[in-house]
Amino acid sequence: MNRRQTILRSVRENPEVPVLILGGGVNGTGLLRELALQGVDCLLVDKSDFVAGASSKSSRMIHGGLRYLENREFRLVRESLFERNRLLQNAPHCVAPLKTTIPLFSYFGGLARSALIFSGISVRPGSRGVVPVKVGLAFYDFVTRNDRRTPTHFITSRDESLRDIPGLNPHIAATATYWDAWITQAERLCIELIQDARAANPNCRAINYVRPRGIEGGAVVLEDQTTGETVPVRPQVLVNATGGWVDLANETLGLATRYMGGTKGSHLVIDSPALHEALGDRMVYYQHADGRVCIVFPFMDKVIMGSTDIRVDDPDAAACDEDEIAYMFTTLRGVFPGISLSRGDIVFVFCGVRPLPVSEGEVLANVSRGHSIRTDEPDGGRAFPVYSLIGGKWTTFRAFAEEAADRVLERLGAERRCSTAHTPIGGGKEFPADAAQRDAWIG
Ligand SMILES: Cc1cc2nc3c(=O)[nH]c(=O)nc-3n(C[C@H](O)[C@H](O)[C@H](O)COP(=O)(O)OP(=O)(O)OC[C@H]3O[C@@H](n4cnc5c(N)ncnc54)[C@H](O)[C@@H]3O)c2cc1C
Repeated sequence: MNRRQTILRSVRENPEVPVLILGGGVNGTGLLRELALQGVDCLLVDKSDFVAGASSKSSRMIHGGLRYLENREFRLVRESLFERNRLLQNAPHCVAPLKTTIPLFSYFGGLARSALIFSGISVRPGSRGVVPVKVGLAFYDFVTRNDRRTPTHFITSRDESLRDIPGLNPHIAATATYWDAWITQAERLCIELIQDARAANPNCRAINYVRPRGIEGGAVVLEDQTTGETVPVRPQVLVNATGGWVDLANETLGLATRYMGGTKGSHLVIDSPALHEALGDRMVYYQHADGRVCIVFPFMDKVIMGSTDIRVDDPDAAACDEDEIAYMFTTLRGVFPGISLSRGDIVFVFCGVRPLPVSEGEVLANVSRGHSIRTDEPDGGRAFPVYSLIGGKWTTFRAFAEEAADRVLERLGAERRCSTAHTPIGGGKEFPADAAQRDAWIG
């Protein structure tokens, strides 16, 4: 009997489960580990491969979120920077510092628009000059002053920048360089969260290609998509961590919610030795004329560029289209006018849906990347509450899981046993701290 069958049989034999988690992205798997470490038994199901959603389609930045400062999201940036530093500490095998350079085309540009956004008026962000970017980066450095894990920022003159980065647009006024972090293997880290959960509490189980079909006799009916068989499960609490699918998953539970306002974002993997060489070891983070922030960074011997931000209703139908490819090529030309790319240089395309909260009439770039939990209390034939996880960033998954776990623990009348703030993840345990230790470890 394989592991899937073993899990399904155990659920059939004992359908009472304290917590049922829908969704095996970073938020679902993060919550599974968080609850496992508190001694709570959970069952996590995903309708697809684990980490098939946004968590494997992101820009891979583990970052504070410089541009969120304009929206006065100081708490989010602070939390993100703390979580970034925790991931650098707890998952050094998958999360590494990332040198990031911003080409700046003026000194004072964007101040008026930044002021409007800062005062709560949702206008499209404009191209930011040296002064507003410098202020933001100073805030970054200030927040992390007591836990400095990356170098502080600096501004480089136009001439020096053009010498450092071949092919950069000569119309720049200067560049700003700072450090954030990136995740090299997002999928691996999520699988390690599941493994850590199982190691901490073998009664925490995760199974994919299983989804809820509805509620019957007070139980959630789960369907094994590989066989069509169904199995009832009776949770005390259900956490809906299905990202962009939250409202669709709630619908199968008989809940008509409109929490999600997902936007799709696409990335291209490009085979361009010229661009790869121009980037060196850095990410270039730049703004297009429409105010959207784009990124381009080396990934092994290729380059990843992205992303777009387009409202979608059906996450299953989200795919990168021709207009997005044209848009990304155009934005890059503004930064590297001398490097020409063609469709033939694209070796891979990926597209994911950001689980953003629903918002009316707001400029998409200004929609908060913060996280929140919506509660639907037991009702009618549903004897358990449903907590829907809304929004968030890859970077802040641990903080989000911690908040969600506290809600669940309160509902179950259970106590928190430990914090995960300093708990290494998977291969991050006893990972060598520097290159010399690593060489000695490998032998
Ligand atoms: C283009 C893009 C770029 C991004 N860049 C960054 C970045 O650089 N840095 C950053 O910090 N964040 C970034 N994010 C945000 C980040 O990726 C997401 O916030 C995070 O991955 C969301 O994780 P999740 O677990 O909530 O959702 P997901 O990863 O989407 O997981 C949801 C899971 O639920 C499953 N599911 C769906 N319906 C059901 C159902 N009915 N039953 C069971 N399972 C179901 C899906 O198969 C999926 O595996 C980006 C997102 C996108 C799309």
